[in-house]
Amino acid sequence: MRVAIIGAGPAGLFTGSALAGRGHDVVAVDRDPPPPAGRWARRGVMQFHHAHGFRPQVARALRQEWPAALDAWLELGAEPITFDVPGLGVVPAGHRSRRDTFERALRTTAETVPGLTIAQGHVDGVLSSDGRVRGIVVDGTPVEADLVVDASGRAGRSVDRLRAPATVGGPCGMAYVDRQYRLRDGAEPGPLSNPLAWQADLDGYQVLVFLHERGHFSVVLVRPTADAALKDLRHEAAFDAVCRAVPGLAAWTDPDRASTVTDVLPGGPLHNTYRGQSDRDGRPYTPGLVSVGDAVATTTPIFGRGVATTFLQILRLLALLDTEPDPAHVGEPFDEWCGQNMRPWVADHVRMDGDAVRRWEGGDVDLTRHLPSDLILAAAAVEPGIERATGGYVSMIELPSCLDPVEPLARGVYASGWRPAFTDGPSRGELREVIARALSTTGLPARAGLSSST
Ligand SMILES: Cc1cc2nc3c(=O)[nH]c(=O)nc-3n(C[C@H](O)[C@H](O)[C@H](O)COP(=O)(O)OP(=O)(O)OC[C@H]3O[C@@H](n4cnc5c(N)ncnc54)[C@H](O)[C@@H]3O)c2cc1C
Repeated sequence: MRVAIIGAGPAGLFTGSALAGRGHDVVAVDRDPPPPAGRWARRGVMQFHHAHGFRPQVARALRQEWPAALDAWLELGAEPITFDVPGLGVVPAGHRSRRDTFERALRTTAETVPGLTIAQGHVDGVLSSDGRVRGIVVDGTPVEADLVVDASGRAGRSVDRLRAPATVGGPCGMAYVDRQYRLRDGAEPGPLSNPLAWQADLDGYQVLVFLHERGHFSVVLVRPTADAALKDLRHEAAFDAVCRAVPGLAAWTDPDRASTVTDVLPGGPLHNTYRGQSDRDGRPYTPGLVSVGDAVATTTPIFGRGVATTFLQILRLLALLDTEPDPAHVGEPFDEWCGQNMRPWVADHVRMDGDAVRRWEGGDVDLTRHLPSDLILAAAAVEPGIERATGGYVSMIELPSCLDPVEPLARGVYASGWRPAFTDGPSRGELREVIARALSTTGLPARAGLSSST
């Protein structure tokens, strides 16, 4: 069969290599190829240089379908890690790696896969006739195909003419600002919550540190988009001042311990969205067209789920294509599977992130509603009975509903008045002052207060 893939990011490359390995004739088209040398700007993928951690599902899928890419990733320095998960013991927990390192491993390996062509171009739209998709249009030129895979990511628009809009979620009220650093030779890491990251929940915002390969790490400030003053974190002076003001970050970014690798990287608003395969006329799918990856399920990166959910989808799609001779018929069963296995993660994030933003504005734990998953996890610190359910959720071996049986235990904890303590560091109001003081030394005007949405 001839397969045309829109996008050669993780979803497009993994799907393309697996289908080419099955003897199909595959072309993956991307507008944004890596340069022969130097930094890959990746303008269409805003998160490309932002912090990523990789769950074990990612390496497991590569080992199963594309071991050469896993070997290439390890060769570039990806570091396997383990977690001690309550109820599960010590288990593989994924890999430390920068996204850039991961995607370069996939890309260079994909370029050697027989039957897979990676073409540079912009996909303008899809070709269709008799109610079935027949190919794509690349920079005005038709490319015929029996199956079109839309792997165009969260920002892809090329199949919008055929595909119904997202049914769940939207912007979640948070944005990332981050920066990459590297530990100096022999320097010990700063504080860690687990082998991959340090998570600090402060009064009105969140701080994350993700460890990557070979001593690289990212410092991430997660800010509410409604607080305009925190947009100024994109200025180096403000970002540095905040790193000095949060004690855990001061330890990580101490110039004696680490040097900067990138500029400060402001990110756009984060989204949680679920978009099924339905077409614009309300039919469950368009024959010959399947969307995968972030084009289906986008979750905020706080739990680092995106590449894992992407690869799990592709494994499912491959299994369907292995048993269905006509690719026009995989859309419906794939959509059903995504509805059962992907949509719950998006819904979980919508509830969790929305409630976190509400609490950042001073709201208390809301006991009139089902507790969001992060609050259930936090209550395990004082109610050991909750731990029996957290392993399946944290590892994504089970769906978020695995926390339902222990939600009443967590509710009891919060009803008693207990609340998770904030990590040591300035509140958001104090953070605004830190930012304003830092900017006053640069001559840049500081923004005041709330009311913005970007
Ligand atoms: C700030 C941030 C941090 C994240 N951190 C993590 C993390 O820690 N762990 C994790 O697992 N996930 C993380 N994610 C999610 C992860 O980045 C995505 O899940 C992943 O990129 C999805 O891959 P994809 O191939 O579906 O889409 P993308 O990576 O977006 O790739 C889509 C590709 O399609 C191309 N394209 C789109 N339209 C066209 C067109 N018309 N013509 C030609 N080419 C086109 C684009 O150029 C791009 O190459 C994070 C996301 C964000 C926003």
